[in-house]
Amino acid sequence: MKKYSFLLLLFLLALAGCSATKKIPKGLYYDPPGSTITTNKIITPEHKRTITINSSGISESNEFDGARLNDFFQVNDTLYQAEMEPENAPVNNSAWYSFKVWSTKPQTVWINLKYKDGSHRYHPKTSRDGLNWKPLDSTFYKIDTAAGSALLKLNVDKDTLWISGQELMTSKDYENWINKILENSFAKKKIIGYSSLGKPINELEISEASDSVDYIVLTGRQHPPEVTGAFALLSFVETITGDSETAKEFRKKFKIYVIPLMNPDGVDAGNWRHNIHGVDLNRDWYYFNQPETRAVKDEMLRLKNLSGKMKFFIDFHSTQKDVFYISKSDSLNNSVPPEIRLAHERAYHLTKDWFAQIGKSFPEYYINIDESLNNPNSPTSDEWIYNNFYCPALTYEMGDEDNRGQIKKLASIAATELMKLLLNEK
Ligand SMILES: [Zn+2]
Repeated sequence: MKKYSFLLLLFLLALAGCSATKKIPKGLYYDPPGSTITTNKIITPEHKRTITINSSGISESNEFDGARLNDFFQVNDTLYQAEMEPENAPVNNSAWYSFKVWSTKPQTVWINLKYKDGSHRYHPKTSRDGLNWKPLDSTFYKIDTAAGSALLKLNVDKDTLWISGQELMTSKDYENWINKILENSFAKKKIIGYSSLGKPINELEISEASDSVDYIVLTGRQHPPEVTGAFALLSFVETITGDSETAKEFRKKFKIYVIPLMNPDGVDAGNWRHNIHGVDLNRDWYYFNQPETRAVKDEMLRLKNLSGKMKFFIDFHSTQKDVFYISKSDSLNNSVPPEIRLAHERAYHLTKDWFAQIGKSFPEYYINIDESLNNPNSPTSDEWIYNNFYCPALTYEMGDEDNRGQIKKLASIAATELMKLLLNEK
C-alpha cells in the first residue's frame, strides 16, 4: 500500500510539474474528447475470419490488409448485415469498411452496412480483383441518415467481389509505388523508423542536386481511410519526378523528401483514423508519444541541421470536401519575435502566390482556402513545421468522393506551380 501511495505522489508531482511549465496542446473544434491525449489507448481487435452461410451459399471475408468488417450475418432470405466498429472510440466519423463477398451460385443480395460509434460516410467502391475499382451505381445504394446505415444491392457469384469505403491502398501498394519511383536514378529510399508493429516508415529522397540544397517535404496517410489525399500525393510526386523542363530544373536545385505512408499499421489494419495504439497521429505533434510521429520528427530535425532550408511542407489528407488549411499570418502578434513574424509573413504570402498561380493554370477549379483552423497550439504536423521551420506548411485535403482524374490533375498543376514559384525565388 505504502509503495502505491509513493507512486501516486510521484505521479501527482510530475503532473503538477508538467502543467506549470508546458502549454497544453489544443485540438481542433471537430475533434472528439481526448484526441490530444496521445499515450497508448486500448483498441478493439478486429478478428480476421471468413464466414460462410451454408443455407444460401454466401461467404464473406476480412482476411486481407486494409479490411474492416467486425461481424456479418443473414437477416432474411436476401438481406444480410455487415457490422463495422472503429479501433477505439471516441473517434472522428471516418467509418471505414472493406470486405470480400462471394456466392456458390449467382444471386442478388442486399447488405446493410451498420456502424458502431459512427455512421455511414463513404460511397461504396467495388472491385473484382482488388486493384481496379468503381463506385457502386447509385441505384444500387440507399443511405438511411437517421440510422447512420446504408443498404447495398449486389449481384454476387463465385468470383470474389470487394466492397470498400475507398479504393484499397495498403503498405504493399505503397511499396510497389516506391519501387516504381526508384527506377529513376535520382531517387533514393531510406527507412527513417518503424511503426509500432515493426513496419518501415519509408522516405524517398528525390534530387539531382550535388550538395546540400533547399528542400521541400511531403507527408501522407497519417489517417488510414484518406485515400484521395494519397492519390494527390502520388500525382504530386510523379510530376516532380517527371520529364518536364521545370521538373528537371527543380531537381537540380532542390531536394524533395517524401514520407508517403506515416501510418502503415493503421492502414493495413483498416483503422478508421488511428494508429495501432488507438492514437490520432496528427494530434501527436506535441508530445510525440508514438513511434511513427517520433520517426518523422527526428528526420525533420536531422534535415534542419543540414545547410539547406525547408521551403515548403505539405501534409496530404482527405475530408468531405476539398480544403487547403494554411497557416495564418501572425504579423500583428507582438508576442512572436520580429524575425519569426517576418518569416511567417513571407511564408503566408508565398502560399497565397502559389494558390494564385494554381488558379491561373486551372481556372475552372475553385480553390477553397481556410485560414481559420490554425492555432499555434494545435498538435498537428503543419503547426509543428510552421513553428519550427517558419516555412509555408499546409494541410492539403481532397474530398472523399472527388473525381479521381481531377485529383490527379490538380496535384500535377499544384506541383508544377510550386516548382516554378520556388525556382523563381532563386
Ligand atoms: Zn486527415
